[in-house]
Amino acid sequence: MTKVFLKKKISRRIEEGHPWVFGNEVNLTDGDLTAGAIAEVFTHDKKFIGRGYLNPQSQILVRLLTRDKSELIDADFFYRRLLKAWQYKSQLGYRENCRLVFGEADFLPALIIDKFNDYFVIQTLALGMDLWKPSIVDALNKIFSPKGIYERNDVPVRELEGLPQQKGFLSAPFDTKIVIRENGLQFFVDIENGQKTGYFLDQQDNRRAIRHIVKDADVLGAFTYTGTFEIHAAHYGAKSVYGIDISAGAVAQANENAALNKLDHIVRFEAMNAFDVLKQWGKENKRWDVVMLDPPAFAKSRDSIQKAITGYKEINLRGMKLVKPGGFLVTSSCTNLVQPDLFLQIIQMAAKDARRTLRQVTYQTQSSDHPIVWGMENTHYLKFLIVQVI
Ligand code: SAH
Repeated sequence: MTKVFLKKKISRRIEEGHPWVFGNEVNLTDGDLTAGAIAEVFTHDKKFIGRGYLNPQSQILVRLLTRDKSELIDADFFYRRLLKAWQYKSQLGYRENCRLVFGEADFLPALIIDKFNDYFVIQTLALGMDLWKPSIVDALNKIFSPKGIYERNDVPVRELEGLPQQKGFLSAPFDTKIVIRENGLQFFVDIENGQKTGYFLDQQDNRRAIRHIVKDADVLGAFTYTGTFEIHAAHYGAKSVYGIDISAGAVAQANENAALNKLDHIVRFEAMNAFDVLKQWGKENKRWDVVMLDPPAFAKSRDSIQKAITGYKEINLRGMKLVKPGGFLVTSSCTNLVQPDLFLQIIQMAAKDARRTLRQVTYQTQSSDHPIVWGMENTHYLKFLIVQVI
């Protein structure tokens, strides 16, 4: 097996348990650097650190899968890890829907598996993980006897690993428009054509956090996708809910979801660009009791952080101006490139420009089926804030 020896001074990141080994952290290698193959990683003085998969084409030369010397990487390894992930999520109370595997945070770098009751959606985002897809599918079949498994590998990051973008069935074909339940409501999930894996499970715990503030309120939601926050608002007693998303497909799906829950007399969605209309409505003095914003990641790489800061500030400023005095702003950011402190600063800047005072109601992160592992800072990515806007 190929051996990789690190430089004498190894990074705190690796010492503290982070699974990535960058090429520039390596002193010496012994054996072929075959993309996807398993390698053993050692300190400069030959102490075993762990086993992981290689990709010499990537800046991350090795992603560690285990630090246990006696643990081999084989089909049974994946079965054990998936079972452990499921036991952990079950222990936290997740039953029907959860992110079963959240990559590094479930000790399976570059693997994402979402469980939507009896259906599973998989992403293998690195070559070394992609090669184990058959073992991963076998493990899912063994543990869950699923009704269907689907691959949503139509993601650009795969190209950095020399992998094609692709999607399709990893089980017998099934109707990919399924229905899931969340907090007593029902939602259509389009596994084949929806965004990412089809549905944002990472906000599932946060959606309950709006239940008191939306009662009897007129609510505006922007960046609604499946309309899940907005339909929750209607369910929790909002007087009216108006949701907008730039995607006509998302809006159609959100309206279907409203009807599925018999809440379409309260909540209605339309296709619009939030940046344009929020500004316009501000000028027209339109106001709501509650404004909810859940924009996409404005930053995908470190180079675009400044752009993201501008985007988040702009949209929050516009959103805040639409809140009646004493009403509430519900706002999120889903990129790990904007760290929690920075996000809060952005909101503070927006409040200053809008000349409003904020009183914090709730500050949360992603739901706990997307674990945050301390020492792996990129596992903490979602910020969710509710403030009263005075
Ligand atoms: N709130 C949703 C997730 C939103 S994802 C949930 O709880 O599941 C972000 C959404 O923002 C996407 O649906 C995308 O279509 C939409 N979007 C992106 N740019 C937009 C814009 N300028 N105006 C309105 N919506 C936009």
